[in-house]
Amino acid sequence: MQAYIAAIEPVNVEWTKNICLKIFFAGCNFKCPFCNTPHLLETKEEVLKDLKDVKKEIELNGNFTEAVIFTGGEPCLQRPQLVELAKFCREKKIKVGIETNGSKPEVLRGLLKEALVDFVAIDIKAPFDEALFEKITTSKTFFISTNQIIQDIKESLEILHEYKDKVDIEARTIIVPSLLFRKEDVMKVAEIVNDIDARWVIQRFNNMPELVKKNFEHIHPPSTTFLEDLKEACGKKYPNLRIEIK
Ligand code: SF4
Repeated sequence: MQAYIAAIEPVNVEWTKNICLKIFFAGCNFKCPFCNTPHLLETKEEVLKDLKDVKKEIELNGNFTEAVIFTGGEPCLQRPQLVELAKFCREKKIKVGIETNGSKPEVLRGLLKEALVDFVAIDIKAPFDEALFEKITTSKTFFISTNQIIQDIKESLEILHEYKDKVDIEARTIIVPSLLFRKEDVMKVAEIVNDIDARWVIQRFNNMPELVKKNFEHIHPPSTTFLEDLKEACGKKYPNLRIEIK
């Protein structure tokens, strides 16, 4: 079997405190204008890899790799490949993490049901307000409406809540001036995260030219004070919410 995999890189992540291997699946069903992996959004033939080669690379890194994290792009779009690699990691007793935009609840449920993941980071990119969600994710197509995508993410969140005692769950939201920055909008996301009882990481938009589209280069990242203010406001309203700023 082959998969569109754009890169495989060892990284340091907080989840394990040790080196992990990140496997970057190419392709995404969202087109967030501030995406910091724009080079991973297309499934080009040149990034097609045989899973046996990917497995070899996992094994080669096995001595210093505590975990593998599947990320993207959106890894859940290549379900059979993702499941096969997660099973392989399980056989090798390597922990498995996944970073997802939450739009494929059936894939998430399958992984959780088979106990194939230890860590799930889910993006909550916007409140569930159709107009704002669409502006932030540019995700609707002829085949799927914004409302359906929102319902799918809600389903993913319910599934994660169901498995919260079995896996480590982190929700992530990027604060992007001009898109998601108003206190009332961020508070709505806080409410969503509070409902699933997950750790919440508020991330700072990064405007590095190689990471974003041209029209976002001139948008400055929010200041630490601005993020701290948001954290404080959300923390006041939802005192049990565990919030981190990155
Ligand atoms: S969901 Fe993630 S990978 Fe996909 S476009 Fe948005 S930021 Fe980029």
